[in-house]
Order: sequence, then C-alpha cells, then structure tokens
Amino acid sequence: MELTSKYVNTYIDTRGVVEERLSFTQAVVKGLAPGGGLFVPKVIPRFSLDDLISLSSLSYAGKAATIFKAFGVDLPAQTIDGCMEDAYGLASANFSVPEVTPVKRLDTNTYILELFCGPTLAFKDLALQCMPRFFSASIDALRAQGAPEAKEDFLILVATSGDTGKAALEGFANREHTSIIVYYPHGGVSDLQQAQMLASEGNNVQVYGLHGNFDDCQTAVKQVFSDEAFAQELAAAHKLRFSSANSINWGRLLPQVVYYVNAYLQMVASGAVQAGEPIDVCVPTGNFGNILAAYYAAEMGTPIERLLCASNVNRVLTDFINTGVYDITDRSFVTTPSPSMDILVSSNLERQLFELNGRNPELVCQWMRALGEEKRFTVDKQTFKALRGRFSADWVSIDESLETIREVYDACNYLLDPHTAVGYKVAQRLSGSNPVLIAATAHWCKFGGDVYRGLAGIKAHEALPKELAQLSGFALNRYIAENYQYAGEVPWRMAELESREQRFGEVCNTDASAVKESIVSFLQA
Ligand SMILES: *Cc1c(COP(=O)(O)O)cnc(C)c1O
Repeated sequence: MELTSKYVNTYIDTRGVVEERLSFTQAVVKGLAPGGGLFVPKVIPRFSLDDLISLSSLSYAGKAATIFKAFGVDLPAQTIDGCMEDAYGLASANFSVPEVTPVKRLDTNTYILELFCGPTLAFKDLALQCMPRFFSASIDALRAQGAPEAKEDFLILVATSGDTGKAALEGFANREHTSIIVYYPHGGVSDLQQAQMLASEGNNVQVYGLHGNFDDCQTAVKQVFSDEAFAQELAAAHKLRFSSANSINWGRLLPQVVYYVNAYLQMVASGAVQAGEPIDVCVPTGNFGNILAAYYAAEMGTPIERLLCASNVNRVLTDFINTGVYDITDRSFVTTPSPSMDILVSSNLERQLFELNGRNPELVCQWMRALGEEKRFTVDKQTFKALRGRFSADWVSIDESLETIREVYDACNYLLDPHTAVGYKVAQRLSGSNPVLIAATAHWCKFGGDVYRGLAGIKAHEALPKELAQLSGFALNRYIAENYQYAGEVPWRMAELESREQRFGEVCNTDASAVKESIVSFLQA
C-alpha cells in the first residue's frame, strides 16, 4: 500500500448506534459514542513486511506520523508531523532516550519493552503526550469546518488513583482549547505520586485532593460529569464543555500501536529476530488498552503471534480468556502492589470483543447489557474460539509478584517494577518457542516500597525495617539505587521533584456540590 496516501478513514461504534460517517477528529473530540459504545476505525490499514521494514529508517516521531496517516487521520500531513515531533521528537526532550521506547534483552528469549522513559515514568505518557496535541488540533480543524461539536473549549475532569492523573496533567498542560482538573483521594496515593501531581506546571491545570477513597472520588466526579444543568451553566458562562480524555478515547489507543511496531523493528535491527519471524507479546493488563494496541499492531501486519494477558489477583480478565465467561458477581476488589491492574470492569475489552466477534454490534450490546444487569456475560462459541486463537492468559499472586522482582534481579541483573513483574512471571509460564516481548509499564522508582519488599523478601502489606520505614519515598529510592547496583540511577525527573515547589494543595469534601464549587473557583481564578 501507499504509506502516505491521504484517504480519510471513518469511525464506527461497537454498539452500532452511530449512523453518520465520523472522522478521526470527531471520534477524538466526542470520546465516547452516543449509546455508550466505543469508536473503532472502519478500516485497519495493512502493511506488508516490506512496508514495515521501510519504517526502520524513520525516527520514532516519523514512524508515529506514518502510522497515523495510514489510519486515515483527517488532519493535514504537516499537522500530524508537527504533533508527533512535539510529542516524541528529540528537541521536545519529553522522553529521556532517542529510541523513546527502548527494547532490552533480559535472557535468551525474553525482551523488555521499556515504556517508562516519559515525563511521568509510566507507559501512559506514550498516549498522553500525543493525544492532547491531537485533541487541540482536532478542535481547530472542526471549528474551521463550523462543526457543532467543537464550538466550546473543553474542561477535562480526571479522577485518579495515582498514575493517570499526573500523565494527563503533563499531557494537557498549556494545550490550546483545554484545561484540566485532577482529583485524587487525599492520603490515598503515594507521597511520590502526590508530589508529582502537586508540582505540575501549566496555566490551565489544577489539582484537588478529596477526603475519601478513590471510589468516592470517582463517584463524585462522575456525578458532576452527568449533571446536565451544570454542564449548561458551564457552556453559557464559560463556553466550556466537559471531557474525560480517559483510556477508551481512540486518540489514546492509536499512539500505543506505534510502540509495538517500533519494538518489532528494533528486534529485527538487533538481530533478535529475522524480518518476518513471529514474536509473542506479554502485557500486564488493567483496562485492556495496552494489550489491545498490540492486537491492532498485529492486525496491521506486525509479526506478533500470541498475546499473553497478565493479571494480578484481580484476575477477571484471565478467567475470561480461559473460560469465555466474564463474571464479577462474586469478586471483591483486592489492593495489590500493582495498583494500576486492580480492576474489575475492563473498559477497553469491549473493542476487543467487537473485533473478535466479526464486528457484530448486536452481540456486544447483549453482553454489555448482561454485564450491567447480571454482572456477567458469556461469549458465543465462535468468539471464544477467536479469542483462544490469539490470546493466552494467566495470573500471579501478590507474594509471587514480589518474589519475581528478586528472582529477575538475581538472574538477569534487572530491576522490575511490580506491574512488570506480573508480566514477567506470566511470560515465563506461557511463552513457547517465539521470542517474547514484555511490556514494562512503569519505572521501579514509582513503587519503591514494594520494590524494596521484593528485593529484601518482605511480604506485601508488611512494614519495612524501622530505619527505612521512616524515610520519604525519595530517600527510599536513593537507598535502593545506592545499595542495588542494577537498579541504576533514580531518573532525574523523579529525583528533582523533592525540591520543587508544590503549586497545589487544596483538599475538598468528596461530594458533587464540593466538586462543582471547586470547578467554579478554578474558572474564576
Ligand atoms: C495503566 C497501567 C497498566 C494497565 O494498562 P491497561 O492499558 O489499562 O491495560 C499497567 N501498568 C501500569 C504501571 C499502568 O499505569
């Protein structure tokens, strides 16, 4: 195919509700489809092996731009190139290494895809450095066409349990046509996560702590989100509309496809595989966005054979992949050292189901209705067969996940974070003869306490030795870096936070009216 062809793809939704022909820019600005479904592109572009290999000579930003163009993004080529240079280019210095997402060899057949070199040291940066730039560019483009969905600017509301909030703050800071408020459970995130958020820069950002846990926080934000009267007030008084920019936005998914293509090309370049030879990919999974991106990379022609889904004890996805039954009737939510995988309802799975059932929206509607009403659904035989044809899954206990950190440190001279440790253990159990690429989703320094527990053989939830228990997160990271040679240095972006001014610190009550007041006071400031 002609890689730079300027065709425009259209977007359909997983519940078959939308009848108009929507473009990329419309799908990104709308976020969620009316009817609750998710947008997917009508056509998935297909690259031949030669097309793929020809991308090798491009920079990461160049590859990303080429892939977006192949997906038929309805923006001028120049705009796409510019957004990608700003997000991933060397000059932007957003990512600490020129490869952006380097691949490292752990042992004979195991490779690590480091997705933690961005501004917040977690893989969500890959999507959230890119998506807000496309979001603003989409608003400009739609306004120029007089499209009604882009009349107002957008206020992004995010409830976060830690990682997403900071990545969203970094991505939306100073982006045209947007402002962002992040709410986090006060006392419910680590001191480092809090320091990361409170030191955020940008003239369009605000952070509030809320009394209560993450669930309370999310409930309050959701209530405000669906308050029609308040939304109308906001539109009238401030010409603003709400958006959530969460991981079900197609604009967050597409950037993630790029790093799987890029990883394969790195493996070919280093001789890990011959061009065309298949690899397997193993992903520590939560909302199913990251592993779904690997699926789309495979559909585009990247030689990825099996997708290995790794869960922690909150193993609803593993059970689903092994049985075809998604069942949350009898599951309680367990807090683990890999909090970003602690999840019961995995929102991006809906797209995967749509792809595996032959893009049948009636079946998706049926399953989602059952999930809402009976808290479970069972897929049909054919869909289950398609699922088993591509995916394998397993889960790892809390103890095992921490033990794996020590095991890999000793055997491979490499320090994993607790999420990636889950991925490693599952890869070890499920991988066959293909080389396996494990997505490393966070830098260890974001989870120093549990990483130390793993290294020192202390169980999760048990106290650290007295002299370490009293240290700040920053000091504990330094201790680990000084005492474990393969830990490497603490990335400067984490280390420098200790002396940074904290711009925010206000804590509010956790109810919808307090959240509304906080929004009004932010907009008046
Ligand atoms: C968000 C996150 C995950 C889960 O990714 P999904 O795309 O939701 O499956 C895993 N690990 C880390 C560190 C994360 O921040």
